[in-house]
Amino acid sequence: MDFYGKENGLFDLLTETISEGIVIVNAQQNIVTVNDTLAQLFGYEKEELINRPLKTLIPQKYHHGHHTQVDRFFNDSEKRIMGQGRELFGMRKDGSLFPVEVGLKPFDANGHLCVLAMVIDITLQKKHEQELKNLNNQLEEKVLERTQRLQEIVIQLENKIEKRKEAENKIKESLRKERELNDLKTKFLSLVSHEFKTPLSGILSSTSLIGKYQTTEQQDKREKHIKTITSKVKYLNNILDDFLSVERLETGKVNYKVTLFPLSKVINEVIYNANMLLKEGQFINYPEGIDDIEINFDEKVLELVLTNLVNNAIKYSPENTMINLMVEIAKNQLKITVADQGIGIPEKEQKFIFNRYFRAENALLNQGTGIGLNIAKSHLENLGGGITFTSKENKGSSFIVEIPMIH
Ligand code: ADP
Repeated sequence: MDFYGKENGLFDLLTETISEGIVIVNAQQNIVTVNDTLAQLFGYEKEELINRPLKTLIPQKYHHGHHTQVDRFFNDSEKRIMGQGRELFGMRKDGSLFPVEVGLKPFDANGHLCVLAMVIDITLQKKHEQELKNLNNQLEEKVLERTQRLQEIVIQLENKIEKRKEAENKIKESLRKERELNDLKTKFLSLVSHEFKTPLSGILSSTSLIGKYQTTEQQDKREKHIKTITSKVKYLNNILDDFLSVERLETGKVNYKVTLFPLSKVINEVIYNANMLLKEGQFINYPEGIDDIEINFDEKVLELVLTNLVNNAIKYSPENTMINLMVEIAKNQLKITVADQGIGIPEKEQKFIFNRYFRAENALLNQGTGIGLNIAKSHLENLGGGITFTSKENKGSSFIVEIPMIH
């Protein structure tokens, strides 16, 4: 059927000069004609395709949908690009597929509705697209890789900075400690000089006075000065004991010797020594019912603690007051209380009282180092005990030592 009759030669002329494949299909979807390019694209001789169904050029799996689509297209007869949004394939004679782009234009050929399809092989384009995609993917992978590497480097750097900071802090901390130690040494030296000066000059004046009392009748005067000297030497000795304790606690060289001993032994010793320091009219109330109490503790530590407490009670109380020593045992704890009727500790300063070198404002007229309570607390806590206090300014203070009773 030659429904484009005379124009056939013109059609050939038009179609053979262009590089796109052209196929004309009738309403039955049979191929009416093709140009050379199309035949070449699909690997046919031109004649082989004439009157063959259009399906010949379409891969098997698209056959079903394709037929209805083309039918629909015949009905709305608009020029359009086929398969927009999805990939189209042509099928060569040898069955191989290749990507195509198809433009469609329906037209009327002598009263017969036909469609002219322009087919372009886009294999190369697709290949380029794919290559571009691959390149893009590679690029993205590289960017990802680099970003990861960068992140790793950032983390490494952060770690390094962190370590450097730690090292810096350590150096700062040791510098701070060194400075503190230097401060302590300076403080210590000035303390020693001050604390030793007064008792030493007292001792000196007593010795020179003793030398002046030469007659037998002046024996009581001599004894009075000897007592002064003894008490001052004991005072200095106590300070030195405290300093030694600080040094041992600081350097970790403190060695405790826990033994079983009668509590009264230590209390007697402390009170005996303290008696020499008592002011006019002061007296110490001896604790009741302690004769049978034996404790397992470091005897020297207990003596040092109680000496400090009793000496403080004497030092920070006026004449004619009582210093009360009480002992009780409750819940496997031995409690020793040293209560006085002295100047007390101002409330706002109470929280600092166990700090090393701390001295309350109202105590500054008395001699002191601010060490005794600090080391007492450290020693007691090291040995599983403790120390607390209650105090009211101008009324008095009570210090309570607690020692575990384990035999
Ligand atoms: P020091 O008595 O040598 O100053 P301590 O460590 O023994 O050092 O005491 C620290 C401070 O606690 C004293 O300076 C004083 O202010 C206060 N303090 C301790 N005991 C008493 C007390 N019995 N009465 C009033 N204040 C006290």
